[in-house]
Amino acid sequence: MVAQVVLNNKEQNIDKVFDYAVPEGLSGRVSVGVRVSVPFGWGNRRVEGIVVSISEASEYKNLKEIAAVIGNVPVCDPEILELCLWVSRKYFCSLYQAIKLATPPGMSSGVREKSVKTATLKLGREAAFGIAGVLRDKGAVAQAKILEALLMCETLPFAKLVREKGGTYDAIRALEKKGYITIETEQIERTVYDEKKYEKTVAYKPTPEQKTVIEHLEKVIEEEKKEKILLRGVTGSGKTEVFLQAIEKVIEKGKNAIMLVPEISLTPQMVQRFVSRFGNKVAVIHSALSNGERFDQWNKIRNGEVKVVVGARSAIFAPFGNIGIIILDEEHENSYKSETSPRYHAIDVAEKRAELENCVLLLASATPSVSEYYRAKTGEYTLFEMTKRYNEGKMPEVDIVDMRGELFGKKNMSPISEKLQCEIQKNLEIGQKTILFLNRRGYSTFVSCRECGEVVNCPDCSIAMTYHKGKDLLSCHYCGYTQRNVTECPSCGSSYVKYFGTGTQKIEEELLRIFPSARVLRMDTDTTSQKGGHERILEEFSKGGADILLGTQMVTKGLDFHDVTLVGVLAADTSLAVDDFRANERGFSLFTQVCGRAGRGDIAGRAVIQTYQPQNSTIQLARNHDYTAFYENEIIQRKRLNYPPFCDIIYIMATGENEDEVKTVAEEMGKRFDSLMRKDKNIFSKVGPAPAPIAKIKNSYRYRILLKCKDANAAHGFLREIYEEHEKGRSGVFLTIDINPVSMY
Ligand code: ADP
Ligand code: ZN
Ligand code: ZN
Repeated sequence: MVAQVVLNNKEQNIDKVFDYAVPEGLSGRVSVGVRVSVPFGWGNRRVEGIVVSISEASEYKNLKEIAAVIGNVPVCDPEILELCLWVSRKYFCSLYQAIKLATPPGMSSGVREKSVKTATLKLGREAAFGIAGVLRDKGAVAQAKILEALLMCETLPFAKLVREKGGTYDAIRALEKKGYITIETEQIERTVYDEKKYEKTVAYKPTPEQKTVIEHLEKVIEEEKKEKILLRGVTGSGKTEVFLQAIEKVIEKGKNAIMLVPEISLTPQMVQRFVSRFGNKVAVIHSALSNGERFDQWNKIRNGEVKVVVGARSAIFAPFGNIGIIILDEEHENSYKSETSPRYHAIDVAEKRAELENCVLLLASATPSVSEYYRAKTGEYTLFEMTKRYNEGKMPEVDIVDMRGELFGKKNMSPISEKLQCEIQKNLEIGQKTILFLNRRGYSTFVSCRECGEVVNCPDCSIAMTYHKGKDLLSCHYCGYTQRNVTECPSCGSSYVKYFGTGTQKIEEELLRIFPSARVLRMDTDTTSQKGGHERILEEFSKGGADILLGTQMVTKGLDFHDVTLVGVLAADTSLAVDDFRANERGFSLFTQVCGRAGRGDIAGRAVIQTYQPQNSTIQLARNHDYTAFYENEIIQRKRLNYPPFCDIIYIMATGENEDEVKTVAEEMGKRFDSLMRKDKNIFSKVGPAPAPIAKIKNSYRYRILLKCKDANAAHGFLREIYEEHEKGRSGVFLTIDINPVSMY
């Protein structure tokens, strides 16, 4: 028997598979997915590896033998291992990096469970009482105290015996040796939601539009068919209810479901809707969980204690099989793409997983990404559309305010327009709620010298520092560097430093100035950094503790408050002024989503969008909630300019602390692509090498090359070759290859 083993080689990002002979004595324990220790290299040093497959024989002679099997269970199941292997090949990372995604922290490197050790009395009470007395007389007081404590309670955790009852760890062990007590390890489970808090709900009677989709889903789930479906449903059309009923069907079939939502909309509200319907059959995975909590959730999934996993991107690797449906809500969201290695996109992984599981893949959004909608239109997905709100409620009435007129016409210096002020006032008077959205946190978005024009930048990044008023600090939103505020220009020493740009802190101050009695809640990274911060703010807002919820992206998605009737977008332009071919797509989606927070109950909603470019077609189309028109426009532009979905973009970035070295590597890389492009017509356009728009982050210089190609998969072999060669070189320059990146900075 021969095992194919991938070694845990921290220096290399690309794996090689090695054959090892399985010695007789280990043949029962070696299977796909187990960790093994193997001799490697000239010195036969021991290296850890994972068995990825098993064969009868090998084409190589004189194989070395596996030295030992580590642990008793495979790191993950064979299906998940297959998924990880696929990820490692597709995204240029090692299998170990991929497996990290599929296992909770600590799992792949050895088990680190949250457990508690307990001692239980083995003796009868009378005997124990007698022995305690003897021990006490002998001077073994700690042992005596432990027995006396156990006389009362029979079983107690170690910690309690030591801290409260006067025992010691040595004494506990001594008693065990003598056979007076038994020691056990109990797993403690940390819960991430309180099931009792949520009222049980049952399925709503579906609207006619919902019914069509639900019936179709039930049919494919029943027939255990593989199908890719895209659901476009306007905000408030009841997409979540469709998910819930489809999952109900999946559970009825004895199968499991994965429900992905973007991190940002993984609000307590969303979790509540799932727990209310499915009780403790739900596991929840998001980035705010502690390692211990995360570990418990993964364990529950692995042990088959739950049927539904609700989670952000990484939950696509949830460790269970027998999957009946995989759902991605808000499919267009950027957070589905990982920005660190492995740079995977959850849609791609979901597609692969659905294929391996032979199950339904459902993507949903009010504003599908142009690429996915195109795929649906061209037959790759079955397309369903829900165009009405569940209660036949109207879409919010959207007003566009020209901010140029505010300053020059109305002499209104406030970042809040007269129109929006007036609407907020109305809401305050009738006791209805308002959500305000601004893309920037902090007080002022940059600090600049009036004398010499210098902008105060982060010392480590080519990025302006943001002013935070309360603590009088400047902070870099890229690397987190903070420093005391400046009173003098760091460049010319002038004291004419001035604050520009508006962040959420400043708007909060402005709101309190204009509406002194309004109760304002601010939700951004600064106010939610503490655990549960998010939840606390939303709960306060929902319970009527505030009139206005002001925040960054966090307030734009997933919130379903029936008494919010007004939404304000304070600076639409900051969301559009992005140097990326998807700027319009993102702007449209953002405005549609945020406006969709208004009027979800019985009272019609309204929205105000403030902008310096009121004629901008994206803003105009968002005002009319016209996705189809937006898409028709956009797809023509994409085709004309040759952008995705009509091509793939390959983004190659070289980074390092020595700018000359980085530049040299990037230039050499560039030349290789030039010569490749002369032979191979797959890659048809190249930009760079040139410094990236943000030329330096955390003291690391960044040079990029952008390639457009017909099919990234066809370029894979060559990219891999380049990557492997670079890895061998071991220079101080890092290379990143990203296929269809979500950010090109
Ligand atoms: P979407 O995800 O499409 O924005 P939601 O699923 O959040 O919409 O639904 C909006 C609101 O409508 C929720 O409060 C939900 O409980 C309610 N709802 C959805 N479908 C129905 C239905 N068939 N009957 C009654 N209420 C419904
Ligand atoms: Zn200056
Ligand atoms: Zn910085």
